[in-house]
Amino acid sequence: MPIDSDFQKKRKKIGKEKGVVVWGPLDPPKKLGIRGSNVAVDLDLCTGCGVCLKICPAQVYEWRETAEHPTSDKKPFPAKATKCICCYQCEKQCPVQAIRVIFGGPQSPFDMLASYLVMAQLIGGPLYGLLFGSYLGLAIPFYVGWIILAVSLPFFFSPVLYFKRRGKPAEGKGIMDTTVIVESGTYGIVRHPQFLGAILTVCASIFISQHWLFALIGILIVWVTPKWIREAEENLLVKFGDEYKRYMEKVPRMNFVLGIIRLLRRKKELEVEK
Ligand code: SF4
Ligand code: SF4
Repeated sequence: MPIDSDFQKKRKKIGKEKGVVVWGPLDPPKKLGIRGSNVAVDLDLCTGCGVCLKICPAQVYEWRETAEHPTSDKKPFPAKATKCICCYQCEKQCPVQAIRVIFGGPQSPFDMLASYLVMAQLIGGPLYGLLFGSYLGLAIPFYVGWIILAVSLPFFFSPVLYFKRRGKPAEGKGIMDTTVIVESGTYGIVRHPQFLGAILTVCASIFISQHWLFALIGILIVWVTPKWIREAEENLLVKFGDEYKRYMEKVPRMNFVLGIIRLLRRKKELEVEK
């Protein structure tokens, strides 16, 4: 029997061991429960084969002694789960299906704050414009802002629009747990449409509200976005390997003008081939 995919609802959180959540029931040394949240290991199922430690590209696991446990005397402990890049190799290759990986593990406090600010900017700027008009009263930027907002939304919500249908998320997983590279729709124009959407939304929010507070938040978001993109690319390269390198050569990172030109070229080449 594999690890219970609903363990976070069905099991009781007992506490933490060196920062890693412990899920009961426990009766050590014979019954050790589940360790971890976004990367979780059912220690009672684990046979201590070591496959997960060997294959994990992010070195998330480390051995722990578990003397007198019926299935093995050492077990992998997801000590650095925040480093997990969601490649799902450990989950796929564990011979007893003792591991469950859930996308969207703990974020650093800074990234969490920045994510909230993106949402505040997305809702706050247009809402301010709707309720009070623009702070500076400049009509052209105000209307341009609404146009940019309309353009930005399909990019910003690209994961929701495309991942479920085209990303083939694994059974029982969320839409972000794609198993193939999505190369169509907005992903055929730029590799990170959601980040492009976020930047366009920031601009829209500033133009619509024309308020210094939204400008200030916007600067922070634009400053942090390259870091998020860099991290996402590193993870995707490990997850999809050469296939992602091929996609990188074909589709630009964020330059949507270049992305549209390349997309049209590819379409033309396909028509010529036909
Ligand atoms: S999903 Fe990949 S990165 Fe995350 S713990 Fe498993 S093997 Fe390591
Ligand atoms: S691959 Fe599975 S059985 Fe092997 S050590 Fe890791 S959790 Fe245990």
